[in-house]
Amino acid sequence: MLDEVLIRRALGRWYDRNKRSLPWRETSDPYAIWISEIMLQQTRVAAVIPYYERFLKRFPNAAALAQASEEEVLTLWSGLGYYSRARNLQKASRQIIERGSFPNTHAEIRDLAGVGDYTAAAVASIAFGLPHAVVDGNVRRVIARITNGKGDPQAVASLLLDHKNPSRSNQALMELGAVVCLPRDPHCENCPIAIHCEASKAGTQNDLPGKRVKPATVYLKRTQLVIRRKGKILLAPSDRVKGFWDLPELFEGARIGASLGSFRHTITHYNYRFTVHEAVVAGSIPEGCRWFRSKDIGEIPLSTAAKKGLLCSIGV
Ligand code: SF4
Repeated sequence: MLDEVLIRRALGRWYDRNKRSLPWRETSDPYAIWISEIMLQQTRVAAVIPYYERFLKRFPNAAALAQASEEEVLTLWSGLGYYSRARNLQKASRQIIERGSFPNTHAEIRDLAGVGDYTAAAVASIAFGLPHAVVDGNVRRVIARITNGKGDPQAVASLLLDHKNPSRSNQALMELGAVVCLPRDPHCENCPIAIHCEASKAGTQNDLPGKRVKPATVYLKRTQLVIRRKGKILLAPSDRVKGFWDLPELFEGARIGASLGSFRHTITHYNYRFTVHEAVVAGSIPEGCRWFRSKDIGEIPLSTAAKKGLLCSIGV
């Protein structure tokens, strides 16, 4: 049996003393908190901080984001991956402008494009103090361990939620998972709730939660072409990341020249090996391809693979 009152109290105190100083913890603006929660999905905190700061500087509110071009939003997002998040942010910002203000109930936040149960609960609790328990990967792991694999994550998270301060309560549990109850070798000796933890007592903490079955890696070979003409470079719409530009691949009418190098590039479970070649066009360019001035390349959403390919061409 969990002693939820003691766990809540211990977690809250520990969080007050130990929470990391993060830019999105300095604000109560629901827009900024929402942006941080979307960026933090599938992405490490340290990687998110500079993106968050740049994004908020350029788009300080929903109106600025709603009015921007998709190209500019994707360019600022470039490198964070999972680009549907950026496109959904922009769709949602237009929903916010249409309704006149940021939604302030869990159900209405959940209605925004790209917002699932986790994000709605996080924004509702952190920005508005509403009593919705969040269950992310960190929380799931902590709960699996304190219940020794026997508790339903959502039910236990709701039981542990401090209704007087849902923001602190949710963040405390997530923070514990992020810095103490680590996936491998959790720091049980520094854990404020170790005396309540069934896995720690049973010595099973490293076995929990059970391993996720990862999809098998798929190896693919692709060729990129660097085609320059009169200060311009030919780019193709990316088929891997929608809205981004790539170096073109082999097409009819492309005459392949010298090899410029090769590199590996991984997206989720796809492992690409790209070889990069100089090329010239001997006919028409493929549909959708466009010539860009080389000096404007920094201003457009360019895929990471294209950036790596261009680095090969610079290094030769
Ligand atoms: S005692 Fe260890 S396993 Fe249990 S919650 Fe704390 S860090 Fe995690």
